[in-house]
Order: sequence, then structure tokens, then C-alpha cells
Amino acid sequence: MTEDNIPSDVAQIFGQDVFNDTVMQRLLPKRVYKELRRTIDEGKDLDPMTAEVVAEAMKNWAIEKGATHYTHWFQPLTGITAEKHDAFISSVRQDGTTLLEFSGKELIKSEPDASSFPSGGIRSTFEARGYTAWDCTSPAFVRHDAAGGILCIPTAFCSYTGEALDMKTPLLRSIEALNKETLRLIRLFGNKTSKKVLPSVGAEQEYFLVDREKFLKRKDLIYTGHTLFGAMPPKGQELDDQYFGAIRERVASFMKDVNRELWRLGVSAKTQHNEVAPGQHELAPIFTDCNVSVDQNQLIMEVLKKVAERHGMTCLLHEKPFKGVNGSGKHNNWSIVTDDGINLLEPGETPHDNIQFLMILTSILKAVDTHADLLRESAANVGNDYRLGANEAPPAIVSVFVGEQLEDVLSQLISTGMATQSKQGEIMDTGVRTLPEFMKDATDRNRTSPFAFTGNKFEFRMVGSSASIAEPNIVLNSIVAEAFAETCDKLEKAEDFDIAVHDLIKSYATDHQRIVFNGNGYSKEWEEEARKRGLGNLPTMVDAISCLVRPETIRLFGKFNIFTEQELQSRSEIKYEDYAKETNIEARTMIDMASKSIIPACLAYAKELADTVISLKGAGLRSKAALEILEEVSSLTDTAKFALDQLIKSADESLAVPQGKERAIFSRDKVRTNMELLRLPIDRLEMIVDKDRWPMPSYGDLLFEV
Ligand code: ADP
Ligand code: MG
Repeated sequence: MTEDNIPSDVAQIFGQDVFNDTVMQRLLPKRVYKELRRTIDEGKDLDPMTAEVVAEAMKNWAIEKGATHYTHWFQPLTGITAEKHDAFISSVRQDGTTLLEFSGKELIKSEPDASSFPSGGIRSTFEARGYTAWDCTSPAFVRHDAAGGILCIPTAFCSYTGEALDMKTPLLRSIEALNKETLRLIRLFGNKTSKKVLPSVGAEQEYFLVDREKFLKRKDLIYTGHTLFGAMPPKGQELDDQYFGAIRERVASFMKDVNRELWRLGVSAKTQHNEVAPGQHELAPIFTDCNVSVDQNQLIMEVLKKVAERHGMTCLLHEKPFKGVNGSGKHNNWSIVTDDGINLLEPGETPHDNIQFLMILTSILKAVDTHADLLRESAANVGNDYRLGANEAPPAIVSVFVGEQLEDVLSQLISTGMATQSKQGEIMDTGVRTLPEFMKDATDRNRTSPFAFTGNKFEFRMVGSSASIAEPNIVLNSIVAEAFAETCDKLEKAEDFDIAVHDLIKSYATDHQRIVFNGNGYSKEWEEEARKRGLGNLPTMVDAISCLVRPETIRLFGKFNIFTEQELQSRSEIKYEDYAKETNIEARTMIDMASKSIIPACLAYAKELADTVISLKGAGLRSKAALEILEEVSSLTDTAKFALDQLIKSADESLAVPQGKERAIFSRDKVRTNMELLRLPIDRLEMIVDKDRWPMPSYGDLLFEV
């Protein structure tokens, strides 16, 4: 269907390009449909005959939707998706016509070669064998763009020897681990009906829009996705007039197209609004299964970028496009839901339910406290280093907000061993085994907490706006599975279940009390307090990476076969290398901009000022202003030139430092420090050099003239 005749009715267009359950029911023979469902729901192997029938149906459906190609859509360790397109054409007949084919084998497995993706040494390029395997738990879809229609089949990407080379494989493993341990736990509490438990995720996506013409005038935006120079405009976000403000026409029409495109792809884009910073916006879909949600977030990012271009704009997904202006994140809302619709993070209706809820809650506190650094690591990327710990972003210290009422319940448990009363004032039986009845927390949400309980879900707010949400969810699922497993180990052995539960809740609440913090996470006092409590504070990505190979992490992921030690080693290698590479690109971009355009512009302006001074003098006049500006420009340009030379030197030196952790540390401590030293004089120069001479659009031009 072409752009022009898309029906406007949401219900009609929603999911129209998705090979979803309804389509499968309609197009597949009953027996085949049942087989496939068993594979999707129970993880049963798909037999080749079934795959053959599904492939044929999927191909015909896709061709009807206008697809000419198919692709195994996968998520290598670059953090974004990758694909290689194959046309459905299989052979040309004698009469010159062609046969369109797509076999079960092609659906299930592909060998994209793709030997250049990072593997951290797991796979040498010469063996070049990476396989993609169909993930039938995330539906296939047809994507329409300039390349035409393409049937995208979500897949996992593994090496020949079975190591995961992507984000999806470990994600699926972590989902399975959580399923298993949660089922074990709820069975102990008497649940006999739920067959499966899945994490549910809804990720709010923040982004900036800038005018494409202006974007193209800035090398830093082109090469690095964010600005490396730039003085603050006279007006920033101080008035908060942009936040939830009326959406401008151009942006509104962009949003309309984004929504339509996402709806067609079955992504339930739900809310949209302007964010705190000028030029900043947010899109949130309705939450769904973790695995699907991770894929959908990738689609959201792709669609935002593509549609922005069509509207003459560029979508910046970087965590900190503009210094001094609010950065962008991704709030990862996470809960655990059974196949029969019970959200296990929903405080219950009865005291009995609340016992289970408190057991789950305190197990999660234990999980987060034990692996706080790993959770922080899962949100680390180069861009997020510009954001985390800055005063408008979550701190780099992980803590959990539980709300006033729950904190009160926990502290009663800790101090008296029993909680007899909830803040709401509902008095409970004071028996040793009873826990308080309480209602959903009505207190204000704490916007400064990196990990907040918001009624019936946890909201992890550290994640960067450009990152895949796979990693944070792998960590969340795994650490919680581990805590549940330990809880079950204890409870399964208990003689008196009720007493054991009560004691365990109390001991978890006591042992992990330090992770709970309801105050202002942006304050300096909190940093000090967190240090006293012994909580980790890992300000940079380089500090965080080493958590990946700590014994606790290796044990955690090993226990559930999510990552082997070798996979963790290789992932940490890749991250150190990424850090150094990205730093190098940023440094080279600054060097390029400073040497080729900014310093020459400053010198030209200085010359013009000098000419003015001389000609005034010739006329017997003297301009104090011209002289002063000349002196200031000359001296700042000298400073800039000196800093530029230092930056060139350290960027060159960094390449001689051994790759990996060492080079990453050098890049952070030397190269990045020199980058800041170069930026300082140049941002000041921007404020005094003639605007017509400044070689690129300013922050004001970019932020207020979209
Ligand atoms: P906020 O106030 O932070 O904007 P919302 O209530 O609007 O929070 O929800 C934000 C996101 O959280 C949405 O994507 C929503 O679908 C998702 N969400 C809501 N409930 C759950 C849940 N139980 N589990 C996971 N995600 C959820
Ligand atoms: Mg939120």
C-alpha cells in the first residue's frame, strides 16, 4: 500500500505490516498454526515441514504487502540492528520469467558472513561464520522505505561454535532464567495456574530534532551525533516553557507520520510530548513482552531517524547533543507478568498477596544491591558519560526509590521484626507472621531516582537514549532470577513456610537497606551519603566496564548459561575498544573543526579588527573597543591553538597505547581532558567573534529554529 492511501483509522492500520497471530491464524493450516504456537509459547523445536509451510505463507503475505526482499534482522554488538537483503527471486526460468521462492531453511537460518562485526576475539574474521537463527517469539514484519518493501525476520546471531555474537541471544536466555525462577517462587506461594512468566517492558524514548540544513553545517553532528563546541544561547530551558508545551506544526506533522509508520509495524506508539529542553521530545509505546519491546525500541529509533529526514530534519538520539542543555535518556519500565495476566509487582489486595509482593520486592532490592555496579554498567556508553551524574540526569550511583509508604513498611520490619501498620492507617493483626496491608503508593514519584518503584513496575532511568535496551534488561532479568533462585532455595527447605518468608523478608530488608533512597538523587549530599553507605559510584563508562568480568558477574551469568566467561571477556574488550575508538573520532572531529574552520575564522576576524584599528589610527582616531576585542580574540585564539596542539599530540599518543583497557583509560584521562581544554576558549570566542564569520550554526540556531 502506498503512502497516500494509508487509512487514517488507527485500528485499521495498526499492525497491518506485521505477521502477527491473527495473520498466522488466517493463513496457516490449523495443524501448522498449532505447531508454531507450541514453538513460540513453549520453546519446542520447529520441525522442517512446519517451517516450510510457514515460510511459504509468510512469503506470499509479504509479497502481497509489496515486499521484494527478505532479511534476517539482527542486533550485533554495535548496539543497533543489522541486515543483509536477499531478493525472493530464486531462479530464472527458460522463458525468462522468474520464480519467487523462500524456503523453510531460509526462514530458520542464514549465514550472513558479517565477519566485520565486533566479536571481541571470539570469532576470527577468516572463519567468518556467523549464523542468524529465527526468533519466532518476535513477529516478522514488512518495512517500507526507499529500498521498497522488505520482509524483516527478527533473528539471533551466533558464532559457528554457538557463542552469542549479539544482544538477542543472551536476552532470550535471561528471559528464560527469569521465567524458571519466578515460576518456582510463585508455586511456593500457591500459584498453580500460571504456566509462564515474562518480563514486560515499556521504554520511553527521548530525542532531539534539528533542522537538516543546519545539521549538515556541523561536522560534529555529522560525525559524532552531538556537538563538541557551542556556547549557550541567551535562552535555554530555564523558563520550562517548552516542557509539555504546544507542539510546533512541523514537529507535529513529523510525529503524525512517525505514529502511523509505527502503528503499521505493530508498535503501539501511545504518548508524545515536548521534553524539558528546547527541541527535545519524547515518545512512549505501550509496554509489551521484553523481547518484543527490545526489538520495537530499535524500530522506534529507526523510524524516528527516517521520518525526520523526510521532514527536512535530523533526529538526534545522542545522550547529550548540547552541553548545558538537558540530555536524553530512555526510561526502561520493567515488571514481571504471568501468562494469565498477573503483574507480580502489583501490591496485592489481601495481606496474603502482600506477603508474596514483599518477598518479591525485597528479593529485587537484594538483586539490585548485590549487582548495582553491573546495572550501572548496563547503561554505560560513551554518550551517557556526558549525561549521567550531570545535574539534570540520574546520578551514576544506583539506588532504589520505593516511596514513603513502602519505606515505612520496610523500616518497621527492620526495627521491630514485624510491621503492624501501614501509613495509610489500616491497622493489621499484630501476629508475628502478619505483614501490613497497604495500598498502592500515592506519594509523589521521585524523578531523581535512577531506579524507582512506580506503583506496579520499576523504572530504570539511567539508560542512554541511543542505546539498545537489551543489555539493561538482560541484567535486570538475570539478577532478579538469581535473587529469586536463592529465595526459593531457602523457602523450599523451610519447615514453617510462613515464618521462613517473614524472616527472609526481614533479613533482606535489613541487609539491603542501604540501597533504598527516597531523597534527591541529584544533590551533592547524596553523593557523600552514598559513599558512607558503601554504594558504588562509577562516573565513567571506563570505570564501569570492569564489572563485567568480576567473579560475581561471571557466577551470575554462568549459573543461567547467559554468558560464558569468555563471552564476558570479549564483551568487555569490545567496550574498551569502542570507548577509545569513539573518543578518537570525537577528538579528530574537534581537531578538524578547530584547525580548518574555527581558528581560521578567528584569525580572519582578528585581521579585520587590526585593519580597523590601523585605518582609524590613520584617520587620527582611536577605538578602544576594536583594540580590546582584538586583544581578546588574539589571546583566546593563541590559547585555542595551544590546546589544539596538545589534543593532536595526545590523540596521536593514544594510538600507541596498547588496545583495550589501557587505551581506554588514556583516552579518558588525557584525550578527553584535552578536548575540554580546547572547547573552553573556542566557546568563549564564539561569544565575541562576528556571527557572520562564525563557521557554523549556533546552539540558538539549532535549538530554537526547528
Ligand atoms: P511516566 O509517568 O514515567 O511517563 P507512564 O505511566 O506514562 O510513566 O508509563 C511509561 C511507560 O511505562 C509506558 O511505556 C508504559 O506502557 C510503561 N508501563 C506501564 N505499566 C507497565 C508495567 N506494568 N510494566 C512495564 N511497563 C509498564
Ligand atoms: Mg518515566
